Amino acid sequence: MILLILPLFLSCPSLAEKTLRSFVSRSSLINDLNRLSEQVDELYGKNEIQLDTLKQPPFTDDSPFRIQHLNSKYSDILFEGDIRVSPFHLRRLIRRQRNRRQAIKGWSNKWPNGIVPYSLHTSINSYKKNAIEEAISFWQRETCIDFIRRTTEGVYLHFVGHDDGCWSTVGRDPAQKEQWISIGNGCEPLGISSHEIAHSLGLFHEQSRYDRDDHVTLISSRVPRSLLYNFAKASAREISTYNLPYDVGSVMHYSPVEFTNEAGQPSLVARDANMQQTMGSLEGPSFLDIQIMNTHYRCEKKCKNRIKCKNRGFIDSRDCNKCKCPTGFGGTLCEKDDYGDTPGCGGEAIAEEKEKELSFTVLEGKNCFYHIKAPLGRKISVTLKSVKGRCEHGCGRDRVEFKINPDPRPIGYRFCCPEEGSRRFTSHSSSLPVLLSSTISSSSVKIIYRLN
Ligand SMILES: [Zn+2]
Repeated sequence: MILLILPLFLSCPSLAEKTLRSFVSRSSLINDLNRLSEQVDELYGKNEIQLDTLKQPPFTDDSPFRIQHLNSKYSDILFEGDIRVSPFHLRRLIRRQRNRRQAIKGWSNKWPNGIVPYSLHTSINSYKKNAIEEAISFWQRETCIDFIRRTTEGVYLHFVGHDDGCWSTVGRDPAQKEQWISIGNGCEPLGISSHEIAHSLGLFHEQSRYDRDDHVTLISSRVPRSLLYNFAKASAREISTYNLPYDVGSVMHYSPVEFTNEAGQPSLVARDANMQQTMGSLEGPSFLDIQIMNTHYRCEKKCKNRIKCKNRGFIDSRDCNKCKCPTGFGGTLCEKDDYGDTPGCGGEAIAEEKEKELSFTVLEGKNCFYHIKAPLGRKISVTLKSVKGRCEHGCGRDRVEFKINPDPRPIGYRFCCPEEGSRRFTSHSSSLPVLLSSTISSSSVKIIYRLN
């Protein structure tokens, strides 16, 4: 009996031998990808942009997440670097670019009741398992979504670790039943695993938003024509922004050098030059990433009471008497300024007509926040004299951040690279949080500030 079964067993390809190419064929996508590239070229090919290519800071090149590098093996069949897309969805995207009025149901399918059954393939070793569990508990803690180990559910997430790359489908796809999410080697940091899980829960890339041109500019001449499809926009019918602001610092945003063919030169440039170093922060989900997920799954409905959160916080659906607060704010209702966790550092700083200096340092794993205040109706001028930290795209690990806008939700101006000369900017309101953090070495900043 055993002799009879064994050869049969060996003749079936085991799951471990299956790869993305077992499910996705290049030939089924190629025409649609080319069509999309043409559409992007039509939209952006004629853009004439004056660029000063000499002004790039000395970014380190060992960023923990470069979609292109980790997924290079599959760059011809993945969409936007890490999305497993069906020909059906691609065609919808193409039609949407042409005809904005066509009403099509979005493709960010939710998991019913926010319950996500999942299983782990045997290729998920203990290192990957810890990484996945950390990312799962992150999303579970920050939203009303519950992950449960799959028993008999017919549609579920299946984490695999034997295939190359970090990739996922956007939203729940009942057609796949066992929906693979790949946490290949190198995909373990929280910024990456939480990004892939966010795709599977329904989030698209931030720069795919239809309003992205108001915030970033695509330099299409720096992207090989055949890869331009990776910069397609999704219309309001395809993905909802829920009227939440665009976040250059979202964990779902490309790094500025994604798909560029000129080493080190950005393919995406922030319209506000002071936002350029904010882009591509893949340390972990931002406040707005968390808020959009809460909104997508209507988490607020879990709370019967309606507390009023301050400073643009929102109700914590896991504890309905508390709010989730944008960085820099705290207290039950986000009513308090947060000063960070470095003893003797942080607090309120009052701007006056005469210039004042603020110079401070934080060590690894710490942060320190100052809130510069002006009389109501006045604004604050800042001169950034120097910054010290790890200089990398997104300033994910060491940085100073200036919340220049009255809306504290989007990530603000981030800097982590040596400054050539002084950088000057002005707050848009009478309050300016200055947030200094370090996770890898230490960060320092020196600024001069005064009333505008
Ligand atoms: Zn992605």
